[in-house]
Amino acid sequence: MSDLWPRIEPLLASVERPARYIDREWGALHPIDPDYRVALVYPDAYELGMANQALSILYERLAAIPGVAPERAFVPWRDMAEQLRGNDVPLFTLESCTPVGEVDLLGITLPYEMTYSNILEILDLAGIPLRSDDRSDSDPLVFGGGPCAFNPEPVAPFFDAILIGDGEEAIAEIVATHRAGRAAGASRSAILAALAGVSGVYVPSMYDMTSGVAVGRDGAPDRVTKRVLADLDSVRPPVSPIVPFMDVVHDRMTIEVLRGCSRGCRFCQAGMVYRPVRERSSDNIVRDVLAGLWCSGHEEVSLTSLSTADHSQLEDILRRLSRRLEGSGISVSLPSLRVDAFSVDMARMLGGGRKTGLTFAPEAGTQRLRDVINKNVTEEQLLATVHKAFSAGWHRIKLYFMIGLPTETDEDVRGIGALVQKVLDTARESVEPAKRGGIRISVSVSTFVPKSHTPFQWDAQVTPEEVRRRQEVLRGSMPKRGVDLSWHASGVSFLEGVFARGGRELADVIEHAWRAGARYDAWTEEFDLGRWISALEACGVDPSRIASRERDTGEPLPWGHIDVGLSVAYLRIERERAREAITTPDCTFDECTGCGVCPTLGVDVILGGGGRE
Ligand code: SF4
Repeated sequence: MSDLWPRIEPLLASVERPARYIDREWGALHPIDPDYRVALVYPDAYELGMANQALSILYERLAAIPGVAPERAFVPWRDMAEQLRGNDVPLFTLESCTPVGEVDLLGITLPYEMTYSNILEILDLAGIPLRSDDRSDSDPLVFGGGPCAFNPEPVAPFFDAILIGDGEEAIAEIVATHRAGRAAGASRSAILAALAGVSGVYVPSMYDMTSGVAVGRDGAPDRVTKRVLADLDSVRPPVSPIVPFMDVVHDRMTIEVLRGCSRGCRFCQAGMVYRPVRERSSDNIVRDVLAGLWCSGHEEVSLTSLSTADHSQLEDILRRLSRRLEGSGISVSLPSLRVDAFSVDMARMLGGGRKTGLTFAPEAGTQRLRDVINKNVTEEQLLATVHKAFSAGWHRIKLYFMIGLPTETDEDVRGIGALVQKVLDTARESVEPAKRGGIRISVSVSTFVPKSHTPFQWDAQVTPEEVRRRQEVLRGSMPKRGVDLSWHASGVSFLEGVFARGGRELADVIEHAWRAGARYDAWTEEFDLGRWISALEACGVDPSRIASRERDTGEPLPWGHIDVGLSVAYLRIERERAREAITTPDCTFDECTGCGVCPTLGVDVILGGGGRE
């Protein structure tokens, strides 16, 4: 393996943030004499990638396999990419400065749709052919995986294989299959055929998509069922995380306490595709938090999940951690809170006197629309929670809403402003008159993007023009003082919607836009909608047919061959219930609502999670 360091070091003086490109951070691993290298590549900048939990989980899992060296690479910022190209230096891994094109396995995370152009930047800088069909036996195996894998088609031609679902157990099987194939002298196509037999692995080149319905060839299954780690306690979370030299987006230790969510919010793809709910035990969480803090020196730990407040043992965990961490200056944080008084009590317990970070997500402004999306939060609950928070000393909270939800009317949009006014009034009534002037409510409003595998997967996305009109209605409805309002750019949401529900035809569009300069599209200052519209036109793809059209529920869908365990009948019923504004209860503490995940995936039906109110 080549060591590119002597050629990389001279470039660092002329780029921004050179710490993005150097190794030897605390916790980075350097196995001696590995015979198999894996480059885990996050398709965005170092400071975002280093906050990604999946990357650190896979890094530790790979390190446990004898002879395997896990290494990391990130997308170089434009200045570094220019230096690399100008000096004919390929993309390299941080740990050993090995060219990414020389590793055995290249694993690229698919965290969000707006990173798709960066996938091509990675492959091109690594000197790897962009399309799987053009690669030879000497190229690394290019694997994908992550949240966007649940509709992999827009990027499918760029990958040799894509893992659908949880990676903790599958990664060792993938490495073993690849190693065994190579030891036997198997060709690249024979190795891919063997990988198609690994549970959860999708090999795009083995599917005929011409009829609009995926048909597996040469033994590939017609439907690929997602991989599920049935017991979260069976795999220890990373307790010796890499500690970056530079600031990263979440500069703290993270421990995943819960996977999946059974609340059934109809807009939420993660809540649907990561079912069923699996908890890590409180004993293991407390043990691993303490071990991780000891190893990393972090001063904050975040207990992460889609809905951490739903962990049945959360009170016990927080009480034990508070006791063990008392006087250490270390704080515990939760990424999201339920809209209830208990959440405020928890925030008080965690904050140790500090009054930061209270965020709630009512999502919609009227009860009717909250019922449509199955967000079981009432105005009374929200106002009671606000009263409790401001009475307890908070003077600022953040609220998340969406516009563009199915069935939304202008009355619903104005309902956001009316609800924020009530929140403001309640907050003011809850504090002494002298403190009322300091009250601020941050209101963040995103645009709803229908996603695959949700009850709204057939719905039309609101057009960018209509989004901009509704944003003006929203602005007009907001209280004039005491509120900081922000929203997402309509063009970004539109393109996200195209990628979220498009098919393989989008691969040409992505390549066209990348060749025209698209990079870092998730960064506002880098995003250029005009470049993408030109690429869509050049490739003859009508984006409104993908994003803005209501689909028939019997129509074949580009992700129809990806089986996350949910039954289509359940999604149709949930869609009907949404139309009638009928809510569906949470199956963890009520009865099974028949989504199909537990029986399909062979998991015991989860009932009576306990501890939840
Ligand atoms: S099968 Fe039933 S218990 Fe299991 S996740 Fe679905 S609704 Fe919940």
